[in-house]
Amino acid sequence: LTREQVDLLVKGGVVVTVDAHDTILEHADLAVRGNTIVAIGDSLPYVAGDAIDARGKVVLPGLVDVHMHETLLRGVCEDLPLMEWLQQICFPKDRSFQAHHSRAAALMSQLEMIKAGITTFVDIFRYPDECAEVAEQSGLRAVLSPQIIETPPGAGETLESACRFVEAWRDRVPRRIHAWFGPHAPYSCSPELYREVVDLAERYGVGIHTHLSETQDEVEQIRSRYGMSPVAYLDSLGALGPQTLAAHCVAISDQDIEILKRRDVAVAHNPTSNAKTASGICPASKLVEAGVRVGLATDSNLSNNRLDMFAEMKMAALLQKLARSDATALPSRQALRLATIDGARCLGLGHEIGSLEAGKKADIILVDFDQPHLWPLVLGEGGNVIAHLVYAACAADVDTTIVDGRVLMRNRQVCTLDERAAQETVSAAAADLLRRADEERRRSWKRS
Ligand SMILES: [Zn+2]
Repeated sequence: LTREQVDLLVKGGVVVTVDAHDTILEHADLAVRGNTIVAIGDSLPYVAGDAIDARGKVVLPGLVDVHMHETLLRGVCEDLPLMEWLQQICFPKDRSFQAHHSRAAALMSQLEMIKAGITTFVDIFRYPDECAEVAEQSGLRAVLSPQIIETPPGAGETLESACRFVEAWRDRVPRRIHAWFGPHAPYSCSPELYREVVDLAERYGVGIHTHLSETQDEVEQIRSRYGMSPVAYLDSLGALGPQTLAAHCVAISDQDIEILKRRDVAVAHNPTSNAKTASGICPASKLVEAGVRVGLATDSNLSNNRLDMFAEMKMAALLQKLARSDATALPSRQALRLATIDGARCLGLGHEIGSLEAGKKADIILVDFDQPHLWPLVLGEGGNVIAHLVYAACAADVDTTIVDGRVLMRNRQVCTLDERAAQETVSAAAADLLRRADEERRRSWKRS
């Protein structure tokens, strides 16, 4: 009997598939050929070019972070409400941002994500070519949506630079690096810009990623300018549809939820970031109950300050329970789905990633359960694997990260990027950006 050859076998782990039935296989192998999972089951009869021992580990679909900014300055501007934070701190810094800062930010963010088991991320920020080049090397699956900001000028990308990026990247790394449009928000972009983006996105067949109804401030601003809620306003521009990914949706009414559902908009829920800026709590369970696609997100090292989807799962579950005074709200099983398959569906990638099933892309992570904070492991009916993943595990427990069948991290050693070299690049670039942002602040102070 000759055994069939595969490229990679992940052997003997507890496999949490996140399939339609939330199937957990207590001892199973995954066989990968090229970038695809070809089989999952006990003692698979394959010979593999490479094998990973998954005993003592939980095997999960890679985590999907549906909204983040690859920013550079973690922890230096803290404890402010969102609008003040944006206007006084972020926009002056963003104006000083240069391509090399973006490259450093991408190196830091992508290293952090590989080490946190995030295999797909949606970035909305500056100099997307730099981020895409880093993603080409890091091996992560990426949706990059250059952040277009009209007001204040100079703080973001322009429609022209975004078009150049989409042209250059939409087919360059097929199915792994996606190029979308990213108009920042209804208060920083004009109605004309949104209309143009809608036309262009349709012409190129790509998605639209925007911030929407993040705070009550925004609702009041948009109401006084256009006489509608931000959701109704974007709808009136034709900007809401199945290709639209709306980040936050914190300050929304039942009518807004009705519009989001009718237009089949996907929502990126950022529980930690929203809590930190005291923006409020997105009615995530209500959206899920209404049939709106909802994914989970970290929002950036600037506003979070960690890219840890385990923390987001826990925060999402806790906030829904608190907001609804109901401990049964957003149970762990659902939190895990938000961080995996539901996030994939938000990006129109639900058929390719987000669960471990034969025929899907091999985006796989291993979580090391052989640690006291993840003891005891109880399998079978009434088991605790999913509860551990949502309430007890953290990013640092991820041991191995695989995207498209390629091992990006093994035993916590990143294989595709040089961590030590990146640290030097990041320190130098951050110091340079702080100095430039300081000069920019002094200049604008003189101007005013
Ligand atoms: Zn954001």
